[in-house]
Amino acid sequence: MPPAHLDGLNNAQLRAVQHPPNIPLQILAGPGSGKTKVLTSRIVHLITEHAISPANICAVTFTNKAALEMRTRLGRMLTKEQVRQIKMGTFHALCAQFLRKYATLVGINGNFTVCDADESKKILGKMLKEPDLKNFLKNCSITLSEGTVSSRISQAKAKGFSPHDLLDTFYASSHASTKGKAKAKSFLPLTTERLEHELNSANIKETIDFVVAHLYDQYELTLREHNSLDFDDLLVYGVRLFSENPQVGRWCTHALVDEFQDTNSVQYELMRGLAATSRCVTIVGDPDQSIYGWRSAEVENLAKMRRDFATTQQIFLEENYRSTAAILAVSVAVVAQDKSRIKKTLHATHPQGPQPTLHCFPSDQIEASAIAHEVKRVVAHMGGALGYDDFAILLRYNSLSRVFEGAFRRAGVPTRLLGGARFFERAEVRDVLAYLQLADNPAYAPAFARAVNVPPRGLGAKSVAELLAAAARRGCAPLALVEGICAGRVPDIRPPVRRKVGEFVAIVKELRELAEKGTSPASLIRCILTLVRYQEYLQKTQEDADSRWQNVQELINFATETDERGAESFDIDVEDAAPPADEDDWDDRGEDEYDEEELDDLGFAEVKPKEDKPAKKSPAAADIAPETPLRAFLQASMLSTDTQQNTEDDKDKQKVTITTCHAAKGLEWPVVFIPVVEEGVFPSARAEDPEEERRLLYVACTRAHALLYLTHAASRKMAGETLSKRLSEFVSALPGVPPPANADSAALFARSPPALSPAECTTLARVLHRAPPDAAQARAQLAALAVAGTPSLWTLAAESAGTGFASAAAWERGAHE
Ligand code: ATP
Ligand code: MG
Repeated sequence: MPPAHLDGLNNAQLRAVQHPPNIPLQILAGPGSGKTKVLTSRIVHLITEHAISPANICAVTFTNKAALEMRTRLGRMLTKEQVRQIKMGTFHALCAQFLRKYATLVGINGNFTVCDADESKKILGKMLKEPDLKNFLKNCSITLSEGTVSSRISQAKAKGFSPHDLLDTFYASSHASTKGKAKAKSFLPLTTERLEHELNSANIKETIDFVVAHLYDQYELTLREHNSLDFDDLLVYGVRLFSENPQVGRWCTHALVDEFQDTNSVQYELMRGLAATSRCVTIVGDPDQSIYGWRSAEVENLAKMRRDFATTQQIFLEENYRSTAAILAVSVAVVAQDKSRIKKTLHATHPQGPQPTLHCFPSDQIEASAIAHEVKRVVAHMGGALGYDDFAILLRYNSLSRVFEGAFRRAGVPTRLLGGARFFERAEVRDVLAYLQLADNPAYAPAFARAVNVPPRGLGAKSVAELLAAAARRGCAPLALVEGICAGRVPDIRPPVRRKVGEFVAIVKELRELAEKGTSPASLIRCILTLVRYQEYLQKTQEDADSRWQNVQELINFATETDERGAESFDIDVEDAAPPADEDDWDDRGEDEYDEEELDDLGFAEVKPKEDKPAKKSPAAADIAPETPLRAFLQASMLSTDTQQNTEDDKDKQKVTITTCHAAKGLEWPVVFIPVVEEGVFPSARAEDPEEERRLLYVACTRAHALLYLTHAASRKMAGETLSKRLSEFVSALPGVPPPANADSAALFARSPPALSPAECTTLARVLHRAPPDAAQARAQLAALAVAGTPSLWTLAAESAGTGFASAAAWERGAHE
């Protein structure tokens, strides 16, 4: 009998798993061909057959959810301890872990706070409001949003460009005066006079480039002041860690990367750094599924790897184990319209199955309701072979989810939103996180600004701004300033704050002491809620206090989960990491509260950092920035706000998933709905590369095992207006669209949902490797639906489509009253 990790693999998959560890390998194949499965089996093979230590293996996944799934799968074939030791996660999460331990090797402090996209936009927003810059931009008629600047900075970081690199590029191409050059390179403050002087002959595009470079520089300074790193920094510093400290690369001898087609150049450099010495690299990817070009992903990294790792070999997988033949045919038809694409072979291993459905509804509301009811109908028909968690609604944008959430709620079908972003963006969640961030990193000014007046302490926005400005003038953290003021060591500012912040300072002090003792994040949150009387505050100020309170409770659940998971996070083997030549270069402050100069500036130099400061040790042996439970929790929360991360509600089963096509990458569900397949949405009106949009639709279609529905509406409310909509060209250009009324087997799509006869249900159950439906249960569920008097929305929609929108609107009113 073959070992479990080789069981059931086809020949090409077997070759990939058993490929010699030291020959770089690219596994290139279409969706559902088992790439992720092969990568997982290869990890087991390396450990069990080649005696590679699990601690030396680094597996990179595209989402946190994918890492969790991989851990679960590995758990079936390896011991718990072996799985724990494998370094596994997204590039961001791995870098955060490495940098926590060895921050000082790249000149940062190990107790950094991860600054999420929302926070970094706020920082930039503040800079854009500086009067000088604001006036200047106004005079030039330039509108520059924090979103635009943020993505420009992010693109620069993804390419490894510093603010100075950007400025150099500007001067290389601009007409700006040579005299200006020397000055500009020193990044002097952006005053109106100066901007005018520098840019008197530059055009608008160049002006924007120039301003972005400067904002980038100031933004970096601010992040360093706050002792925080944004998502891109995690990668940039990660690369620096590996390139400047070759010994670090030795921590990992075998690097395996999933979804390689969506790596950007900084991530590519990281991969090179990881496998610098051993060159044992395995990547899996599919150019047809590259959908992150807008975030600087470079599919050319596949060719780059073959150049950099000259002995690289390739293995192609050609069998699809996920979808029915009918679904695969539709998916391939979608992507094949891209004429520049290299054609590939992908055979379905499953039978034909029901035709995917393509249907137009009169309005967005009817579309959403019809889908919710179709989910109920299929669950009822399949008699226990399918549950709500087998269904996914894949949307082009997150913002389209609201109408679906409403429709599912009305239909009584539970849903969960995958993507996490919204949960961590909620004000109440942010409030609690701000207190925790301060307890962990007292220098983090954004957390101070948020927490200091929650609940209200009589400090208006102006007072808070004045406090921040006063702290900035003194070059200290705002928390240190108010502590100094309360202790009478520093004169109060104007308007006075001393009377107002006493309680706040005491609360943060208590939290910091608890955090230092290693108190669990869940207990810390409970403490915050009690100390600031948070429920009372919500009840006094918020209409939806109860649901907000629920969210805070959910944060406690998340903290408990992270705490449990945290115990599984890998250790970094430090033996190989030799200390640098000059030990004096090391910053051994550990987690001391303040910079001593800051203390001096504040006039309380007599306040010494913690007494129990550890004796100076070799950093190779010392735990420079220990991964406290609080820090692990904050990191998980901040990384969860990235759109590609999913942690919220993971434990919730039996809910229909609503998510974006991007976040669905690598995942699969028995039944998939792709609504709003309309011009302006798919492809998105904002998209730069229509072919990337087409591939995104391909990725979405190929998530389905057994049933696939593409739907669109003839009219849709957008930004308060009702617009007429057209089917996406990606679909309307396919042969046999629109589908014939009585779809025959030759058509790509059917117009109505599948009949799901008993025989069809049994076939589907087989495709899904599930127990065949229980006929009695199915009948009972159908009866319950009949009692509820649910009309067939699909039929209703078809009828009203024929008679115009008036009747559809009437129906809608009736249905929603
Ligand atoms: P994607 O490109 O979408 O990430 P993938 O190539 O990574 O897809 P996997 O997710 O690894 O594909 O596999 C798709 C499905 O096919 C999974 O359910 C997996 O268990 C199954 N599968 C893969 N190989 C086999 C096999 N040899 N026998 C049976 N099932 C398989
Ligand atoms: Mg995969």
